[in-house]
Amino acid sequence: MRVAFDLDDTLIPCGLDFPTEAPALPWLAWLLRPEPLRVGTTAALAALRADGHELWVYTSSFRSALSVRLTFLCYGLWLDGVINQQRHDARVGRGGPVKDPAAFGVDLLFDDSVAVAEAGGGRVVLVAPEAGLAALVEGRARPTPAPRR
Ligand SMILES: [Mg+2]
Repeated sequence: MRVAFDLDDTLIPCGLDFPTEAPALPWLAWLLRPEPLRVGTTAALAALRADGHELWVYTSSFRSALSVRLTFLCYGLWLDGVINQQRHDARVGRGGPVKDPAAFGVDLLFDDSVAVAEAGGGRVVLVAPEAGLAALVEGRARPTPAPRR
């Protein structure tokens, strides 16, 4: 199963405020100064990885794929794919939905945006700011996914 996460206000505090966790690799973080990730991210994503799921990021920002990958590396996490706004535009175009998980083979996308959830064709899990990320991921990503449409 390909599981993707939004960044701003889902894993990285931007407009919202939520606790973040310390990078797993402090020496690398000292070097790269990554953006802080929401508390529980490392455990939740590592559990998904251990279950054999792919880990992707799907962001409507113009962060480079490399910088996103390096941020997650500081937390000991390897990403299988990164979709930023450029990559989204190249495939979906400007006239399409804000995010289109199906266009990238993403089975499940965790995102804080109601608009993304409404347009996501049942593939989006809405993440509230106060949500416990680990419990949410555990509850939604473990069962067998619904068949693709
Ligand atoms: Mg967001």
